[in-house]
Amino acid sequence: MRRSEISTLLFETPWPELRHYAARVLEREKGSHVFVRGLVEFSNLCRRNCRYCGLRGGNSSLVRYALSQAQVLKAASVAVDTGVDTIVLQSGEYAIDPLWLAQIIDAIRSTHRVPVTLSVGEQPDAAYALWKEAGAVRFLLKHETSDRRLYAALHPGHNLQERIDCLKRLAKLKYECGSGFMIGLPGQHPESLVDDILLARRLRVGMCGAGPFIPQENTPLGRSESGSVAMTLRVLAVLRIALPWANIPATTALATLDAASGQREGLLAGANVLMPGFTPAGFREHYRIYDNKNRVDLAGVQAAIEAAGRTHSLKPMGNTQCVLAEALASA
Ligand code: SF4
Repeated sequence: MRRSEISTLLFETPWPELRHYAARVLEREKGSHVFVRGLVEFSNLCRRNCRYCGLRGGNSSLVRYALSQAQVLKAASVAVDTGVDTIVLQSGEYAIDPLWLAQIIDAIRSTHRVPVTLSVGEQPDAAYALWKEAGAVRFLLKHETSDRRLYAALHPGHNLQERIDCLKRLAKLKYECGSGFMIGLPGQHPESLVDDILLARRLRVGMCGAGPFIPQENTPLGRSESGSVAMTLRVLAVLRIALPWANIPATTALATLDAASGQREGLLAGANVLMPGFTPAGFREHYRIYDNKNRVDLAGVQAAIEAAGRTHSLKPMGNTQCVLAEALASA
């Protein structure tokens, strides 16, 4: 696919036409099924200082936490009991004890037989290899923006190339890699979204998440404006067309800016993944990447999938069971 084609789709094609095109590709490539990944945010510790993120190490106002192995396994177990098809273990980027996390991965794999996805930032190759051996199959590492100058400005002390190199190292270790980027970052030229899509396509990532930028008040970008929901939906549709093989989530950030219909509209735009949270209460509110983060819960996920006319693997659950599952995760 040429740059000009992506640019035309993104900025010129009327929305009903673009959405219809994406829906046809989705149906052909992925059918009606929506994958539901259970997200466990096991720590908000982070050594980096990304200028947009509330977890940045320099944010001294954030209450920090790290779950115990038992707490992670319990949250994963509750998630699996609801019918999620994958457990996603996510944290800020810090010096995780490789063996500690490997034991968790191994326990989830052997007890529940569901795939484990990791999202724990840039780590030594030896740790990546150990976690792969323990049974992790996928790794999410967003490139955030393909604009090299903007990447360097937003990530003090880091550059885009090391991010890309890290994704390549993960692919070499046979992880199914996922990337992603933000829409509406302060200083982002709209045309660079075309480059974001091209980069994800060139890397042939198995997953790509695109969500709107949302400010967090205790960061240097805390007073900036959020990204646009309309443009995020357009990006999702173009991603579906340009990366027909990829799993594409309707992100929590989308659900935060449009609580009523963000997830459903994301699915209708071409997404095929939702990620409800199973981080226990008392901790999840401290995973504050941005402000007013909407908690994507089970009931909301089921409602969004059904409203979009799609199918899922979740067990039939009324509101009472959803509340019960969440209470168990928090107990
Ligand atoms: S974006 Fe990730 S690496 Fe950057 S500060 Fe936030 S949690 Fe840390």
